[in-house]
Amino acid sequence: MNRLDWNGGALPFAGASLLGPDDFGHHFAGPNGNDFAAMMREVDFLIGKGFPLGLALVIGEIDLSVCRQIKRTAARQADYVNWVVMGPILIAVFRKGLLDELSRAWRMLTLEDSELTAGVAFSDSLRNHEELLAAARIALQRALGKRIDLLVLDPIEAQQAISDHQTAQLMRKHLAAGGGDFEAHFQPQVVIDSGLPVGAEALARWHPDGRPIAPSRFIPIAEDNGLIAEIGEMMLALSARALKVLRRNGIAIPHISVNVSPQQSRQGDFLRTVTQILSSERLSAKDIELEITESLAGSGGTEFLDWLADLSSAGFRIAIDDFGTGTSTLARIHDIPAHKIKLDRAFVTPLPHDEAACTTCRSALDLVHQLGKMSLAEGVEHPAQATYLSTLGCTMGQGYLWARPMPEKDLVAWWSGRTTQ
Ligand code: C2E
Ligand code: CA
Ligand code: CA
Repeated sequence: MNRLDWNGGALPFAGASLLGPDDFGHHFAGPNGNDFAAMMREVDFLIGKGFPLGLALVIGEIDLSVCRQIKRTAARQADYVNWVVMGPILIAVFRKGLLDELSRAWRMLTLEDSELTAGVAFSDSLRNHEELLAAARIALQRALGKRIDLLVLDPIEAQQAISDHQTAQLMRKHLAAGGGDFEAHFQPQVVIDSGLPVGAEALARWHPDGRPIAPSRFIPIAEDNGLIAEIGEMMLALSARALKVLRRNGIAIPHISVNVSPQQSRQGDFLRTVTQILSSERLSAKDIELEITESLAGSGGTEFLDWLADLSSAGFRIAIDDFGTGTSTLARIHDIPAHKIKLDRAFVTPLPHDEAACTTCRSALDLVHQLGKMSLAEGVEHPAQATYLSTLGCTMGQGYLWARPMPEKDLVAWWSGRTTQ
């Protein structure tokens, strides 16, 4: 397996359960006939005794002679290192204090081979080998995502990673069962001066077993665990269905905006999937606006710009989300085929009394308007913010001042009340 095949996606053995021998089949090769199960029993024993243990997962073209050399060196110093290789992965356990020494040795011995990536977690805050393996797996996944060759989780990060892992397992189970406890809520977008609605943003809601989990928690977990594309497709389908319901109720809603995660842009068939979802509801590209976050818009290369251009020429409206939070978009905004910019809530909240925020909003909006793009301010809560934004030429807004995100049936009532006064 090529190390880069894993970038951005789930690891091949990230199944419904925590790692076990079955995830690897029988492709192991350890020194002295080691096997995975025996090594994990040893790990549990050592954790039980309070022995400070590190566990590393390494992927790439692994040179076993390097491992043997490291093990021999450790044995000479009466230190603890053990490892097995399973398929494309090397699993190494070692005394925690050896990390620096091992990573130095690893780097020196693999100077020629820059294709190795390692994720490491420590036993300090973890209860057994399953948790330790899961935390190391997340470390490796993050290292691959960030394109760095070594990532070490500290005990707090490891605890968080375990809790995220459990949430991801629950999410995978619920999605496999049809996603019934996921919902889309819709937040109106309005013309600031008149308060008249012009569209709505679809926002994912998840309440596993009736207990809601905030999107700010579950969306990043879905992204880390290869589940966001599935959620994205579900949100598109729910939005398409909501458009039909709203229009059947006499509501002339021009579009629904749907959030697109960076990972979805890397899927080759995104355009085809969206088009299929829309045509199954007899809708077309102009009915959906795609919200792409600024971090993605700013970091993407020409491939990403081509992707946006394809979507745009297929008729989709593109909005740059969270504008102002990224670092490089400003320089590239000319090239991005977006028709709308959404000014991030962080800049809107301090208005109109915070001078720095006022200056930032003014210059950002000037630029947006000079480029002939539309502007929408996010997170507008107070009339004074709306008035100030209007003086800066910002035409549209979204925020608690007008409405919170709501289920589709409430949106029908809200929208009718607004347009028939
Ligand atoms: P976002 O795309 O920036 O969405 C706007 C967030 O601001 C929503 O939070 C919304 O409820 C909140 N909001 C709107 N008006 C106000 C206001 O006046 N005051 C305050 N304090 N908050 C306001 P939410 O629903 O919790 O979603 C958080 C983030 O999760 C979203 O930020 C988006 O990045 C992500 N997200 C939500 N649904 C999806 C989805 O279906 N797909 C993807 N990829 N991401 C999603
Ligand atoms: Ca958004
Ligand atoms: Ca936003």
